[in-house]
Amino acid sequence: MLDTARPINEIIWHCTATPEGRDFTVNDIRAWHKQRGWSDIGYHYIVYRDGRIMPGRPVGQVGAHVSGHNTGTIGCSYVGGVSADGKTAKDTRTGPQRASMLWLTAQLAKKFQIAKISGHNEYAAKACPSFDVRKDELSRLL
Ligand SMILES: [Zn+2]
Repeated sequence: MLDTARPINEIIWHCTATPEGRDFTVNDIRAWHKQRGWSDIGYHYIVYRDGRIMPGRPVGQVGAHVSGHNTGTIGCSYVGGVSADGKTAKDTRTGPQRASMLWLTAQLAKKFQIAKISGHNEYAAKACPSFDVRKDELSRLL
């Protein structure tokens, strides 16, 4: 039996929209999201620049990461996604982040028998996660 009561069929990737080369923690992101009035951090997993995979909101709870697509999805985010000067969207993934994102996506896809991996920018007029998941190695996992 899976350790979640809600059906999950998709992983949606995000970025924290923070400048390249700068580290931010789950607590930082949780504080930003709480400032928006949310009960907790909106993402279920966060991948640090050094590749560490950190838990956010429990997977058993619906996240807050894509308007209209929170039900049935897991929201994952890497730290980064904006140029160092903070002005433009940029794929800032480090090697360790790429490796951890692949590993995490593969684990979740297997555990929840997920058939779809997408990016926030497929659902909103946003740059997030600053790359096209459909053309990325992440999509080749399925
Ligand atoms: Zn996003």
